[in-house]
Amino acid sequence: MPSDWIKSSCNQCGSQIVIHKEWTNPDTVCGACKLISGKFVDAIEVLLIGNYFVTPDHIKNQLRDLVKSANCIYNKNLRKNVERSAAWRIAELELAKQLWAKKEVRKSVLFAIKVLSKQEKQDEKAKLRSELRAARTVDGTRRWTG
Ligand SMILES: [Zn+2]
Repeated sequence: MPSDWIKSSCNQCGSQIVIHKEWTNPDTVCGACKLISGKFVDAIEVLLIGNYFVTPDHIKNQLRDLVKSANCIYNKNLRKNVERSAAWRIAELELAKQLWAKKEVRKSVLFAIKVLSKQEKQDEKAKLRSELRAARTVDGTRRWTG
């Protein structure tokens, strides 16, 4: 009997992902890579230190442990003379993988990513508006001086 689940591989890190054959828009990246593209480290930071979210202590503790182990991996690679940005990418992927495996913590982080990306879009809109305003002012100035 053919299975409805197909093994595929993440096109970012190559790790195995499983997709359903009836999905019309199947994932092409794994959960960890999804977290990375969602700037999950920023989300963790906001969950830990900001007062933007009310984060339960047990979630914070798990996040701190994850960050601590990512720091260990990072420092270990630096000691092995791995270049900084490469060392960070290794640690970041490992952090994302560990986080993805922890369902409850993952949920908090995904929520924070969603809120932050909405926030970012608003910031971008505000930036665009002020740029438009500035452009208009420039036009106006040109008209006045020209
Ligand atoms: Zn991946």
